[in-house]
Amino acid sequence: MKTLKDFADDINKCSKCGLCQSVCPVYKITGNDCAVSRGKFVMLEGVLKGDLKLNRTIEKYLDMCLRCGKCKDFCPGGIDVCEIFNIAKYECAKNTLHGKIENFLESDFVFGNCIKLARKISHFGASRLQPANDGKETTRLLYFKGCVNNIYPKTEKALKKILQKLDVELIERDFDCCGQPFLSGGNLERFEEVKAWNLKLMDCDFDAVLTDCASCESTLREYFKECEAPEFINAAEFLAKQNVRFRFKKPVRVTFHKPCHLKSADFVPELFQNCENVEYIEMKDFDECCGFAGSFALKNSNLSITLAQNKAKNIIETGADVVLTTCPACILGILRGFNHRRHPKAMNVVDFLAHADEIILKKSY
Ligand code: SF4
Ligand code: SF4
Repeated sequence: MKTLKDFADDINKCSKCGLCQSVCPVYKITGNDCAVSRGKFVMLEGVLKGDLKLNRTIEKYLDMCLRCGKCKDFCPGGIDVCEIFNIAKYECAKNTLHGKIENFLESDFVFGNCIKLARKISHFGASRLQPANDGKETTRLLYFKGCVNNIYPKTEKALKKILQKLDVELIERDFDCCGQPFLSGGNLERFEEVKAWNLKLMDCDFDAVLTDCASCESTLREYFKECEAPEFINAAEFLAKQNVRFRFKKPVRVTFHKPCHLKSADFVPELFQNCENVEYIEMKDFDECCGFAGSFALKNSNLSITLAQNKAKNIIETGADVVLTTCPACILGILRGFNHRRHPKAMNVVDFLAHADEIILKKSY
């Protein structure tokens, strides 16, 4: 396992230019330099020089980060800030009582077995999707369904309902959690455990890894930082590129929230062009964080609510009936921001498309 010292060169690469301040959602609210990469790197430089200790104060600032990666994309030094913060968080928490308690709760014995039990209950009697056997070549998609589908497989069912119309073979494996909560929470030993298990199950023949959660996909990509990665595709993007049309009888206005971890939202206009009676209205700052970000919402409740309320305001201003996204955690984040009695529905894109009155292959109309 790498240590903070292994990242000394990257930390020293920070020129303190402050450009990260202009994109960091947390800095925009707090105005606190310790909340953004620049300030965190000043502290970590102090630690590496031996002037500071990795104590609770530094840990608090490491937790005050959404791991949204916006500063990384903007940083002239190209510093992989999230990886450094995760290692520093690991070193802060590893020998502390609260670190040990968190690790126990996230262990395979507690977290892992809860997910396995939930999967057994929620998938009892469920059948696996068979490819349409009409002699055509099928696309083989390895489905990473994620913890939320293991507990409450609403989006999984919606996805299968649509995919059964297409020439697709969905390969299912008993994957563990992608590891996102462990990675960002600094429980790197547990992250390596789930990564090893999932990689073993990914060792099979497929065309692409399919997910319906942007955070799962971004974490799976982390597995392949030092080796060749397979192709990954988000379910919403996959459906946008298929020869399929979604016909809604009643007109509906939708807007789209881009999760921080979704690689690109370029497919969104194309997706809604494939829908009849659906009007897409882009919201202001559609790619700004919803404020949930796993344990960030628990550890920085007021900040998280402020970010969610800003997001909700932008959604309401569009006048949309439904806000769509591709991450279950973002749905929770968005719902936290609505404090009006009446507000738009928040749904995964896949759930919305499965509600179409007709799903038709373009060749057949
Ligand atoms: S943008 Fe990069 S180099 Fe500039 S202060 Fe932020 S982390 Fe440092
Ligand atoms: S990852 Fe996001 S929240 Fe964290 S410092 Fe960078 S921009 Fe700010």
